Amino acid sequence: SEGLILLSSDKLIIDINSFAKSILNFNNNSLFFYDYKILKELEEIVEVSFNQMKNMSVELEFEKRFYKCSTFCVEGNNSRVILMLEDISKAKKLDISKKEFVSNASHELKTPLTIISGFLETIMLKNYNDEKQLFYYLDIVQNEVNRLKKLVTNLLSLSTIENNYMKSNKINLLKIDEFILKLERTFEFLAQEKNIKLNFNYKNESMYILFPKEWLEIIISNILDNAIKYSAKNKSVNINLDIIHNTLIIEIQDFGIGIEEEDFTKIFERFYRGDKSHSSTIEGTGLGLSIVKHMIDIVEGEIMVRSKIDEGTTFSIYVPIIEILKVD
Ligand code: ATP
Ligand code: MG
Repeated sequence: SEGLILLSSDKLIIDINSFAKSILNFNNNSLFFYDYKILKELEEIVEVSFNQMKNMSVELEFEKRFYKCSTFCVEGNNSRVILMLEDISKAKKLDISKKEFVSNASHELKTPLTIISGFLETIMLKNYNDEKQLFYYLDIVQNEVNRLKKLVTNLLSLSTIENNYMKSNKINLLKIDEFILKLERTFEFLAQEKNIKLNFNYKNESMYILFPKEWLEIIISNILDNAIKYSAKNKSVNINLDIIHNTLIIEIQDFGIGIEEEDFTKIFERFYRGDKSHSSTIEGTGLGLSIVKHMIDIVEGEIMVRSKIDEGTTFSIYVPIIEILKVD
């Protein structure tokens, strides 16, 4: 997995391995160091290595990939330098996404905290006219505290998903009817509040799955929560469960506000919330779907979204199962 290039002091490529060839887009007729863009960027460390016989190392971003580039000097009459290129894009990207995550998380935590401390100060200084105004302020504080709680819960579940999976019991029995009953109970109140009808459509089957049942609950709950949240009153939401071959297919269809096509991948990113116009009026942390996606990736399933603005959205989830038990 490392590219190796042997260079002579007159900057000719004497030898090159196949991985380095692919990085350079190597052409057998061009053996000169300066024929290659990436090598030109490494001119400095190669020069120093030849002049001072000193091993050097730098990181380089080239054509959207990251490389660790090191030189190794071969001393002798005809001094030579070996240039080693290691593709460190994966680790680098993970590192960047971790940093982004921490800074996003801090930002998201800071906003409610600022609001809470601001209003608490107002209250402590008795800067309100009457009890009505005081309760109005307290209501804002309470809302922000709830937002913080949800944020922290979501952040914790994101960071513990992998650990829990490793520790979890690997084979679990899933009974569709019990599972649906639990979902119905959980969402009864939320749906009633907006007079949304939840239509469950499934066959009563049982099966073994290779991940905790709670995960499926978390996955469907997040999508169902969105379906209700991003629909107007008096609509319906259809939940269909089906098994084809060794895959459990769950489709959740709403007739709500819809998602722009350009957002189809972004909605799975951490903290991403759709159009500002509705994200300021509808509450959320922007973490729900990123938790869903993370779990689905771990269980080696798939999630797809189809949607049209003002017509509605359908999320389709595919998760592998290991065995189906027929129940009549
Ligand atoms: P929470 O963390 O509370 O779930 P959220 O619902 O905003 O917050 P996600 O569930 O990750 O976060 O969803 C990301 C964004 O995708 C939402 O802000 C919304 O813009 C869009 N979205 C998701 N589901 C739907 C849907 N069924 N209809 C319309 N937009 C949706
Ligand atoms: Mg959500």
